[in-house]
Amino acid sequence: MVLNSAITAIDEKIIDMKVWHLALPVNSRRDHGIGTVANNIEVIIVKLTSESGAIGFGEASPWAPFTGTPEGNFAALDRYFRPLVIGAKIADFASITGKAARIVIHNTEAKAALETALFDLAGHILRKPVWALLGEKCRSEIHLSVSLANPDFASDLSLVEKLQADGVNIVKIKTGFKDHEFDLMRIRKLRDKYPDLNIRIDYNQGLDSREAVRCVSEIDTFAPTFIEQPVVAHDFKTMSTLRKTTNSLLLADESVFGPEDMRRALNEEICDGVSIKIMKSGGMMRGLEVAEIAANHNIPAYGGDMFETGIAHLAGTHMIAVSPNISLGCEFYHASYYLIEDILEEPFVINNGMVQVPDQPGLGHNINLDKLDKYAVNSTNRETRQ
Ligand code: MG
Repeated sequence: MVLNSAITAIDEKIIDMKVWHLALPVNSRRDHGIGTVANNIEVIIVKLTSESGAIGFGEASPWAPFTGTPEGNFAALDRYFRPLVIGAKIADFASITGKAARIVIHNTEAKAALETALFDLAGHILRKPVWALLGEKCRSEIHLSVSLANPDFASDLSLVEKLQADGVNIVKIKTGFKDHEFDLMRIRKLRDKYPDLNIRIDYNQGLDSREAVRCVSEIDTFAPTFIEQPVVAHDFKTMSTLRKTTNSLLLADESVFGPEDMRRALNEEICDGVSIKIMKSGGMMRGLEVAEIAANHNIPAYGGDMFETGIAHLAGTHMIAVSPNISLGCEFYHASYYLIEDILEEPFVINNGMVQVPDQPGLGHNINLDKLDKYAVNSTNRETRQ
C-alpha cells in the first residue's frame, strides 16, 4: 500500500513521545482455547506531539499467549521506536514505520500503536479522519459481534439478553476451553432461545488435531456463520482437512498474522475466511494488505481484535471503513461491554448493533488523560534527543 501523499507533505517534526502501560479492570472472567483473561487487561498507549502542539494516540493491545507481552511492547515503543520518532518529520512516516518493522522482531502490537499514533497525528494536522488517509470509504457503520467466553454460561445468557435489547444480534461463542459437551450445550441453548441470532464459533486453537474433525463436524450441524481456528496456529494440515469437511466457513485467526501468512494460507487452502487484526498484522496498512490478498481469492474477512480500549477499536474501525472485503463485521465490544471504564472521553459509538465510523479528524475521539494516569502501572516521558 502506498502512503497518502498529503502525509508526505507534512513538514512538521515530532517533538515528544509518552508511553503508558495500563492495567484496566474488566467485568468478568473470559476463557479461551489458549488461556484466560480475568481481573484486568493490559495495554500500552503511546502519545506523539508535533511542533504545532498537534497530538496523536495509538494503542498496543498484547495478549501473552496470542501475540506478545505488554512489557515487550512497552520496551519496543519506549526504547527502540523512540529514537526513530523524536525529531523526525511526519513526512517521514513511511521511513519511520519501515525502520520500526526491522529494528524489533515481532511486537506487531507496538508497530500498530506507532502507526495509529502517526495517522492520528497526521489526521489532526490535515483535518481529515484516518479513513480518508487510508483509502475510499465503503461503509459508515459495521455490524458488531460480541464474544461469549464466560465459564459461567448463565452470565453469558444475561449478556445476550442485554445485547438483544441493544440491537446486537451477532455473537461468537468461544469454544474448546472446557469440553465438547459444554460447547454443544451452549450452541443448542442459544439456537433454541434465539432462532434468529447470528452465531459464530471460535476455538482459539483449543482442539487437539485428533479430535478436531469429529468435534467440528458436530458443531457444523448447527450451521454457524463461521468456525474459527479449531487447532493450533501452525497445524495447516488439519486446518486444510477441516476446510474440506466443514460446510460452515472455516476462518483462520492465529494461523494468519500478516500478508506473508495469508499467502501461505491460500497456497495451502487452510481457510474460507480470515480474521484480520491490526495487533497481528502490525498496523492498518498491513491489515488492508491482508484484506486485499484475501479479496483476490474471494476469501471474506472479519474484523477481529485483541483485548482493547476504544483507541485500538477506532483504528480497526477506520481500517474496516475502507475495506469492502472485511465484510463479516467486527469485534469491537470491549470498550462498551467488557471494560469497567474505557479511556475515551466520550463513549465508543455503537448504534443499534452497528459500530459507527467517525468523520472527525484523526481517530475521531479525545482521550481522557486523567484515566491514563489513573490506570498506569508504568509510564515514561524520557529526555529524548532532538
Ligand atoms: Mg479468534
